[in-house]
Amino acid sequence: MSVIETMTQGSPAGTGQEELDVLDPATGEVVGTIPAGSEQSADAAVAAAQAALPAWSNRAPAERGAILKAAARRVAEQAPELAELQTREGGKPIGDSLGGVEAGIGAIEQYAELGPLHRGRSLQGGRDALDVMVHEPRGVVALLVPWNDPVAIACAQIAAALVAGNTVVFKPSEKTPLSAARLVELLAIPDGALQLLQGDARAGAPLAAHPDVDLVIHTGSTSTGREVAQACAQRLGKALLELGGKDPLIIDAGIDPEWAADQAASGAFANAGQICTSVERIYAHSSVAEAFVEALARRAKELRVGPGLEEDTQMGPLIDEGQRELVHRHVSEAVSAGGRLLCGGEVPDGPGFFYPPTVLADVDPTAAVICDETFGPVAAVRTVDSFEQALEEANATAYGLAATVFTPSQANAQRAWRELRVGTVKINAVWGGAPGGAAEPAGASGLGHGYGPELLDEVTHTKVVHLAPAPAGPADGGNVASGQPEPDLA
Ligand code: NAD
Repeated sequence: MSVIETMTQGSPAGTGQEELDVLDPATGEVVGTIPAGSEQSADAAVAAAQAALPAWSNRAPAERGAILKAAARRVAEQAPELAELQTREGGKPIGDSLGGVEAGIGAIEQYAELGPLHRGRSLQGGRDALDVMVHEPRGVVALLVPWNDPVAIACAQIAAALVAGNTVVFKPSEKTPLSAARLVELLAIPDGALQLLQGDARAGAPLAAHPDVDLVIHTGSTSTGREVAQACAQRLGKALLELGGKDPLIIDAGIDPEWAADQAASGAFANAGQICTSVERIYAHSSVAEAFVEALARRAKELRVGPGLEEDTQMGPLIDEGQRELVHRHVSEAVSAGGRLLCGGEVPDGPGFFYPPTVLADVDPTAAVICDETFGPVAAVRTVDSFEQALEEANATAYGLAATVFTPSQANAQRAWRELRVGTVKINAVWGGAPGGAAEPAGASGLGHGYGPELLDEVTHTKVVHLAPAPAGPADGGNVASGQPEPDLA
């Protein structure tokens, strides 16, 4: 029996619950089925996670950390299998997929170490009392996870929530549920502390709205994020949101156009543009714009597009037909509005949901490809006359995830990181950043810290405790309940 067959999760016989097909984006073929999800399945998952809370939260933090480290080792032993499954249902080139699994393993190990070190504070109280701030588990944490980097995102969020003493209901994307199910199986978290809930919004919406969920972490599109936030607002529940982006790349005068094209090609075409911080729009100074656009089109044409499981593939397919239609609509509308198509822009014949790396120049600033998240392999370039114009246009968006600036000018670099209204600014590198960074997205790109040590603050509830001694008892000054003398707290 193949990996896929063993992982296929049909709905229990006789339940009548609707099923969803899971497709291989490289072929369009069905590789598994999952239950579509329902209010009942969400209720059952939350009830199980709640029932697991006393046992799991009473384990010492170091014990929870040790359990997670052992879980990370099990995932590491099966990393190639998990990566293959992720590519089969998500389309990523296999090397990138393995990189995502390894990032997930690293995140589990990091939170397993950091969790037990997550400290509260002692306060400056009087000598007769003890005043402290402690981090307590919030309770049941719901994770709504997207399909574009599913194993890495799930590993980090599951580990952070669990090590802090919460229990988890993990709802993966309905587009990548098979790697999620295998991940949960490999993690093998005891006490029932990790519950898997399969399905689409029919499972996700009742989960987000559930009165017994204490924190919802949603990583996904801005439109879904709004719905999740509204569901949480009804019960004044906390939502942590890591949402979509429309990241700009600014190319200043004096930058080598060939080097900029290398960087931009990686930023726009990695994972077929389906990364939350993909380069989605480019503002190139008029002194370098034409040379840059030509160099970028050359690189786009050289990229080897194919099924993710083929070793020499550099760019895989889009996730599904709906995503391909959206990407093609953005490109076609930009061309109709006067944009110049340098390469790509045509839906290929054949199986799967492939779309070619596409370069557009002279794009109208009101085009959807400049204003809305495209999430595809499209580099949309505008030529600007000044660095000021680039900054102004870069900020003319509701999104605020990240931005990249290529500039030889120290003054412009300083100006850019101060003025760009985003969570992350990268100067002279399209990817990268030291470990531990935890940006807060701006605007419509989210709320709170979804990464880094700060995620441990988000998944815990800060309680202030003022611990004063009781006055002496009436008879013997002892503790009435136990008969033992009161400890002197001073
Ligand atoms: P999505 O919001 O459609 O789905 C994410 C999860 O939410 C899935 O599990 C989905 O089933 C669930 N969901 C869908 N509708 C729901 C509803 N009404 N109520 C509750 N849950 C619901 O996002 P997606 O298409 O899976 O992922 C792509 C998006 O994710 C892009 O916009 C991308 O930018 C974003 N993303 C952001 C980050 C980040 O860190 N900011 C990281 C990865 C992806």
